Amino acid sequence: MDITTATPVEIDTQLADIYRRANQAEQKVEIAVVGLHYGLGERPNYVTRTRKEWPATTAEALAACRNRGDEYNVMYGKTFADMAAKYDTAVTALAAIEAEADVLNAEFNRRGGWSRFFTVQNNGGHIHSSMSCQTCNKRGLRTDFGWNPELSGLTMEQAITRFDRHAHILCTVCFPAAPVEWTVRDRAAAATTKAAKAAAEQAARLTDPKLIGAPDGAVLRVDGDTLRTVRAAQIAMGSHLFWALYAERGGNSGDGRRWHARQIAEALAAKLGEQADDILAAAEVKAKKKLGR
Ligand SMILES: [Zn+2]
Repeated sequence: MDITTATPVEIDTQLADIYRRANQAEQKVEIAVVGLHYGLGERPNYVTRTRKEWPATTAEALAACRNRGDEYNVMYGKTFADMAAKYDTAVTALAAIEAEADVLNAEFNRRGGWSRFFTVQNNGGHIHSSMSCQTCNKRGLRTDFGWNPELSGLTMEQAITRFDRHAHILCTVCFPAAPVEWTVRDRAAAATTKAAKAAAEQAARLTDPKLIGAPDGAVLRVDGDTLRTVRAAQIAMGSHLFWALYAERGGNSGDGRRWHARQIAEALAAKLGEQADDILAAAEVKAKKKLGR
């Protein structure tokens, strides 16, 4: 490819692939960093559920591993020098991939740039004109961008016809001149879709022999649990009866548990065309046997 005559689509198709590989290479660096810290016996502090911080910086951990050199790390089955080497290899590989991007990014800048349409899956599915949009990469989390290189160089008007407006809307920071219907979610259409989905789920609970709902087809929630299948309901009913009997045997009230069991029995009765009392009586026999053991 002659870079000076390549089209935006051609250049961005290559860049999209380079960024995909760079992401993978970055993950390898992260894995190597985790290896350094764990190898040194550090334990992370979780800042959020997924984000962790280490007692030492990467540079400190790397220096510590280099210092211990050929000392064998029994836990990891390799030397500290090997752990440092794994990190070095990952960093070198990432740098090589980033260098591939440099020349293409330079050509983009030389031409004064061209239009791009990055999509983001989370956070409402916005379309951005660049990966450095101020609305992205927030709270220390990196946004995961889709490149859509086949749209590079198109006008906004040309590009938006290629998107499904229910899945994507334009970012108003990136596209200040965007038509208003392309910057807001079609709430009426979204509500219709949601209502249709809820109706289909309700119908399934009433007609699918494996699924269960309340007698009117609503979601069956008992004692804080959502019971989705007939089998799950039968198990939950048995469990409530078991604990009711257990409480009663100890001289306590099992009424709460019995009430939950009855709610489930009524749902099962509606589903199976049986009587709730019969279902409860049969389940109680089983629960008594279980308790007797
Ligand atoms: Zn944006």
